[in-house]
Amino acid sequence: MSQSLSTDVLIVGGGIAGLWLNARLRQQGFATVLVECGSLGGGQSLKSQGIIHGGAKYALHGALTGASEAIADMPRRWREALAGTGELNLAGVRILSDAHYLWSPGTLAGNLTSFFASKAVRGRVDQVKGEQLPPALQHPKFKGKVYRLAELVLDVPSLIARLAELAGDGLLAARQIEPLREDGELCGLIVDGREIRAQRVVLSAGAGNAALLAALGVEQPAQQLRPLHMVLAKGPALKPLYAHCLGGGPKPRVTVTTHPAADGQWVWYLGGDLAEADGVARDESAQIQAAQKEMAALLPWVDQSQTRWATLRVDRAEPAQSGLVRPDNAFLAEQQRLLVGWPTKLALAPDFADRVLASLQRDGVQPATHAPLPELPRPALGQPIWEALLP
Ligand code: FAD
Repeated sequence: MSQSLSTDVLIVGGGIAGLWLNARLRQQGFATVLVECGSLGGGQSLKSQGIIHGGAKYALHGALTGASEAIADMPRRWREALAGTGELNLAGVRILSDAHYLWSPGTLAGNLTSFFASKAVRGRVDQVKGEQLPPALQHPKFKGKVYRLAELVLDVPSLIARLAELAGDGLLAARQIEPLREDGELCGLIVDGREIRAQRVVLSAGAGNAALLAALGVEQPAQQLRPLHMVLAKGPALKPLYAHCLGGGPKPRVTVTTHPAADGQWVWYLGGDLAEADGVARDESAQIQAAQKEMAALLPWVDQSQTRWATLRVDRAEPAQSGLVRPDNAFLAEQQRLLVGWPTKLALAPDFADRVLASLQRDGVQPATHAPLPELPRPALGQPIWEALLP
């Protein structure tokens, strides 16, 4: 059996939630070990669109309540971190777009009234025209209205790489996790046969939380999975676009982000309503056809003859909610030394870490003295999905 270890906080799951938490804990002097069974970011995080939401999308259907306004502060916290002046030093992480846009292709001003009245967007939305438009919309044939939202879009691969750097020597690649108990109480985990004692164990394993809770014999909190069927397009004629395109309904008809491929081309990554219920029901070729039709209708001037298309099925993992509504705060549940949660959004990783730190503070958990970590097998960084799907 490998040498046993002790640490202050043992984190399971190296997506955005675990990595951000890990970096904040280390910065505050806590000893940490983060266990990852796949690749860092390789769960939902590297499949996300990288939008640092401030809640504007929810204001569209008036669903941004007082309790959920935690999200309204996220762009500021991220911007400070990215500038190297915030709670973490993320200087060097690539910002793909300093703004996300709201794009109303027709005369849909009607459904924007309550949106502009909402607290989350008041004073933070400007209409843009001409050369200020996102590059893909700068065309004489373009009609419609575009508003700039104070929400940025990040290159998630560079974000994960930076957080892995901040994790220092505390990353551990491992497959098998079992509870470690003393007098019937959880006091750590047995990870690939190695005992790791900790003051607190945090499960931030995304969709993996449900199986981990089952292995620990814990029934609550329950997890829900929300399936999505995303579309990727790569071609020489594609230009950057970061926008929620509005349809008639409360959700964006399509949400487009654009990502740099290693060969210098741009990749459009398409979510929003296109990727939800009807999109999930379509098979891959029907989903590609639906996306082609949508993009041809919205951007008819883009020559798609050399564009290649692919789809990606992925589940969002969240705490169970009635009616599959979208949670808009990070979620954390506590049971003695065990903490488990989901950030529910990449953008809410700081909120997730706040909740863990508040729990430690409330319980008087302080950094303790531990033997230095031996060299541990390190998990690999996950790869951008567009490189795998559209090489
Ligand atoms: P994950 O990123 O899934 O990480 C969990 C990690 O735990 C994985 O690396 C996994 O391998 C590991 N793991 C699992 N089981 C175990 C185990 N037993 N032992 C060890 N390790 C384990 N949010 C936004 O804010 N903006 C967006 O634009 C956005 N777009 C999205 C688009 C899509 C298509 C999807 C699916 C989500 C999007 N999200 C977005 C949501 C966001 O991606 C997630 O909320 C966030 O990435 C979840 O992070 P996480 O760390 O909890 O989970």
